[in-house]
Amino acid sequence: MGSSEISVVRNYIGGSFVDGKSESWFDVLEPSTGKLFAKAVLSGKEDVDSAVIAAKGALPGWSSLEMKERARWLDMIADGLEEVFEEIAELESRDTGKPISLARSVDASRSVANFRFFAGLLLEQETEFFQMEDATNYVVNKPVGVGALITPWNLPLYLLSWKVAPAIGMGNTVVCKPSELTPMTADLLMRVIDGVGLPPGVINLVHGEGAGAGEPLVSHPDVDLVSFTGGTSTGEKVAASAAPMFKKISLELGGKNASIVFADCNMESTVEGVVRSGFLNQGQVCLCGSRILVEDGIYDEFERRFVESVEKMTIGDPLDESSDLGALISPEHLEKVRSYIDLAKEEGGTILTGGTPCLPSRFDGGNWISPTVIGGLEYDSRCATEEIFGPVVSLHRFDSEEEAIEIANCTRYGLAGSVWTEDLEKGKRVSERIDSGMIWINTWLHRDLRVPFGGVKDSGVGREGGRWSLGFFSEAMNICVKQG
Ligand code: NAD
Repeated sequence: MGSSEISVVRNYIGGSFVDGKSESWFDVLEPSTGKLFAKAVLSGKEDVDSAVIAAKGALPGWSSLEMKERARWLDMIADGLEEVFEEIAELESRDTGKPISLARSVDASRSVANFRFFAGLLLEQETEFFQMEDATNYVVNKPVGVGALITPWNLPLYLLSWKVAPAIGMGNTVVCKPSELTPMTADLLMRVIDGVGLPPGVINLVHGEGAGAGEPLVSHPDVDLVSFTGGTSTGEKVAASAAPMFKKISLELGGKNASIVFADCNMESTVEGVVRSGFLNQGQVCLCGSRILVEDGIYDEFERRFVESVEKMTIGDPLDESSDLGALISPEHLEKVRSYIDLAKEEGGTILTGGTPCLPSRFDGGNWISPTVIGGLEYDSRCATEEIFGPVVSLHRFDSEEEAIEIANCTRYGLAGSVWTEDLEKGKRVSERIDSGMIWINTWLHRDLRVPFGGVKDSGVGREGGRWSLGFFSEAMNICVKQG
């Protein structure tokens, strides 16, 4: 697709690309310029109903395939995605405003890897047996049924593929609802599965807004499970509408993660790692370390080197190979991020670096803000405890392990975090006392697809990732056979 053409993005239901029943559309804007990029179907309840009927119809055939056949389909989808690797990166960069280099190394790579990884994991599955003196138990992992897969805008295909692959791998059929802000690579995935000839109805997709399409999908009586990634307040609504029907539910929600920097860290690699964890994808990763807690003895030196390093990052055209940072997703999100910077000033913080970048005029309509570092905030201030989800971090001092742990745990969130120290025993001791689902020591976002992923407190319910995904997307049934 040429950069000036407007794409039309349709729903994918029962193996066909279709317009919405109401023939309504919404505009998809490029975050870096604010210009119209595509038009997508604004789905409503009737479209959701059609997609669920298609998924339900495909369930008996798909779930009766052997695991190794489904693994073969996942591999074929991975092959198909590999062929359009560059298209994934370009679409993701234009649709989200993220740098193309990041869209390649993170989004496109992981989307292929997700299908490849789960294909391999399915082949490793073996029946579990529990022998008794007079009986044998064995466990059958059955599909749950029709799954609703709802995803946010920050890592569109990365997160969608991470749900679709294990869901269909375990024999479920699905209806996907990607973010209305970023429909482009979800559409590309549908083109890929259409190209490989996946049986119609196994994967369906409706575009549209949360209230109009997401809500009827979650509350649909024929949807058996919901895997949701998004904001905590949306997660509350999703949980409330799924609960009365006892649907199986997984919620991957917001975060306000701490990076804890001890005086005995390797200063150079820590500054590099903590800058990356603060600002990757313009700080719009749920795992980003937006509260940086630094031990007193090195605070001043760390602050100086950190700010210097942040100021060296290149912000600009997402499609330029040399850009480290691109645009924020939408004008509304930019407004929210700016409002937190204003709040930081009201709360007594000092802006150590930040502002609006100076860019060529073609980016005038885009959602731009420079990476911002705030000092001097109380650790329990709103700005230091609420999720901003943008390129804004705050620096805080601590003077003991106990105090670092207390500050790290002082939010409603509990998703991730990182600890930076040369003393690995201390690193592990501190990590284990942080209320969160994941901690990295001397690294960040170092992902192994086999490990559990998810949060505690207001960051979510349940775990996905590796065998935890296979467990979530299936129902374990025990059969006990009496001998003799
Ligand atoms: P969001 O909650 O606004 O939207 C997420 C998805 O939910 C979208 O597809 C949206 O259309 C849909 N939705 C909205 N209302 C709905 C409803 N009532 N019923 C069903 N679906 C509905 O989130 P966002 O702004 O797209 O994404 C940013 C948030 O996602 C941040 O809070 C971030 O921390 C979080 N996130 C979490 C993880 C994780 O793994 N924990 C990963 C990425 C992003």
